[in-house]
Amino acid sequence: MLYKCNFCTLFFVLLYTVCFSQNALEQRESMAPFNEDALLNNIRTLSSDTFEGRRTGTKGADKAKGYIIDQFQLLNVLPLNTNYEQRFSFFTKRINYNGTNILGLIKGTDNPERYIVISAHYDHEGIKNGEIYNGADDDASGIGALISFAEYFKNNPPKHSVVLAAFDAEELGLEGSKYYANNSIVSLNKIMLNLNMDMISRSETKELFVVGTRFNPTLKQVITNFDQTEHVKMVVGHDGEDGLENWVYSSDHASFHKKGIPFLYFGVDDHEDYHTPNDDYENIQPEFYKESVKLIIAVFKKIDTLNI
Ligand SMILES: [Zn+2]
Repeated sequence: MLYKCNFCTLFFVLLYTVCFSQNALEQRESMAPFNEDALLNNIRTLSSDTFEGRRTGTKGADKAKGYIIDQFQLLNVLPLNTNYEQRFSFFTKRINYNGTNILGLIKGTDNPERYIVISAHYDHEGIKNGEIYNGADDDASGIGALISFAEYFKNNPPKHSVVLAAFDAEELGLEGSKYYANNSIVSLNKIMLNLNMDMISRSETKELFVVGTRFNPTLKQVITNFDQTEHVKMVVGHDGEDGLENWVYSSDHASFHKKGIPFLYFGVDDHEDYHTPNDDYENIQPEFYKESVKLIIAVFKKIDTLNI
């Protein structure tokens, strides 16, 4: 009797353990790699009127800077330098601007001496003729993704070290990334790749373009082997050899490319609200956006296992 009872208990304990572990495993696998509501909240906040279009050197840009630094701190992102800020100034059209790049660091577990710079730009067009250019897709979407990357790394530390770069003054001529590349805190020969995100939250055709594989066969292989998802079609193109508009120099990845550093740029085709006051949160496509960020994280995960 005693033996039988013990056997029964043992059997049910084992059964419970197996079922529970299986359940926990399935739950973990079905979970998104980041909080999707937080992603949408971040893009909505950064593209709200209170940020006044985030033009370089304005109150709105300063507010965006504070917001991004707060998120980095909350998510345990270390400052790359003594603090998160890399300040710079420049002249364009005879106007002097002061800009600030925001640079965070996640230390790599296996290969900490080699770096992947993940980037997006937080500046936009500001206020023109009394209208706020909120720049939801351009490029609050990239900054939202950058913050989701930080959240992802909390539970999934990368093998290579990662610089999370929120660049300033992209709209004024890629000035922030140019300054970063000329004054890099990490020496350039340690940077394995720049992964840049600029406009990733909407597409009528569900197409997310990937630029940069033309210059690197390993990257080409990674991207061409990727499975497509329901909401997002990842398309190689716009890299100067397919007759489409050449995007090799269209955003901050150009500053890395000019230094001979491999890059991948993710972005969508220009849309009707591009650089208009209507590039608002209400006009993004949440499902496309969430899937884009998941896909880009999956690409990162694959590349992080390689040496390029
Ligand atoms: Zn942009």
